[in-house]
Amino acid sequence: MSGDYYCAHCEDEFVVEEGEGGGDRPPCPKCGQTESVQSVDTSALIRDIRRQWFVVLALLFLVGAGLVLYQWTSGE
Ligand SMILES: [Zn+2]
Repeated sequence: MSGDYYCAHCEDEFVVEEGEGGGDRPPCPKCGQTESVQSVDTSALIRDIRRQWFVVLALLFLVGAGLVLYQWTSGE
């Protein structure tokens, strides 16, 4: 299984074939850095976005519930 990676230093994407590198963060072929290299897994990216949206919706729900509770308790 090959993986797509993105180097934040070079702002360039590259593909690492199976067997190369070994670690989950291979060095960038241009600058050789590993710290600036990120995996570009689109399915993981979509999962992350969904999880972030879930957190945002949960926060909105909590804020809304808090406001309703506040108005309810201070309404008398
Ligand atoms: Zn690089």
